Amino acid sequence: MLSRTLARLGLASGPREVKAVDGVDFRLGRGEVLGVVGESGCGKSTLGRMVAGLSTPTSGEVLQNGTPRAVTQGLDRQMIFQDPFSSLNPRKRVTDLIGEAPMVHRIVDPAGLESYVTALMERCGIDPAFRDRFAHQFSGGQRQRIGIARALAVKPEVLVCDEAISALDVSIQAQIVNLFMDLRDELNLAYLFISHDLGVMRHLADRVLVMYLGRVVEEGSAAALFDTPIHPYTRALVEAVPRLDRRRTTFQPVPGEIPSPLNPPSGCHFHPRCPLATARCRSEAPVLRDVAPGRRAACHLV
Ligand code: SF4
Repeated sequence: MLSRTLARLGLASGPREVKAVDGVDFRLGRGEVLGVVGESGCGKSTLGRMVAGLSTPTSGEVLQNGTPRAVTQGLDRQMIFQDPFSSLNPRKRVTDLIGEAPMVHRIVDPAGLESYVTALMERCGIDPAFRDRFAHQFSGGQRQRIGIARALAVKPEVLVCDEAISALDVSIQAQIVNLFMDLRDELNLAYLFISHDLGVMRHLADRVLVMYLGRVVEEGSAAALFDTPIHPYTRALVEAVPRLDRRRTTFQPVPGEIPSPLNPPSGCHFHPRCPLATARCRSEAPVLRDVAPGRRAACHLV
């Protein structure tokens, strides 16, 4: 009785279901960069962790080359984190950070390990003479290069980059972005690139998913999506970016706050912040559907 009363008052203390990612469905081709944008709390990091096999979805599947495959971590999907320092074991030397996984998984034999690690360090722009150093002896940009070399060591097909350059200085960001693009060309790597930085995304991504409170609200080529955003949320995100040609040079946050995923708004999750919301938006969730070739959006008005 008490629990029912508390539930009616919205004070129930039992476990509540949070849909951090809800009904997201997308394709990622070899050599493609798929960007994922949205404010913090929109589910993009959870999506990245699921693709990398670090989190398990309650339902859904991953198809690789058309074949279902385990949604647990595979060597073919590696993650690059925002903070390379916390993802690199401080007690290990660079040579072990990079060489351990390919040894364990028999990608390389002991006799070939040194030259294998040397080649990866050189490829990622780290001087092999520093192979016996520890992660704390490197700068942030060099540590990110070590993280990339470590990921490449197990010959992945997909790199999931979660805000992988946002902690770096702008000049270093450009160098790491160039490294990512060179590796894509050389190895035909696919990237799921998660970032709140629309400028970087426009430069880097082939296609972009825009997420809001766990759902995809718009998808399209990076050029089309940023030049002619369709969904009101994408429009607000694009408008928030400083643009010299619009005489605004400071970042303007999207008006209103992203609601808690514990208690998402009914209907279209964006309706409390949407200037175009109608009564239908409050009761009926819009479906993500094709609105133009290569373009999908989830909005009743589109
Ligand atoms: Fe706005 Fe309604 Fe479209 Fe949601 S469905 S984005 S509330 S107009």
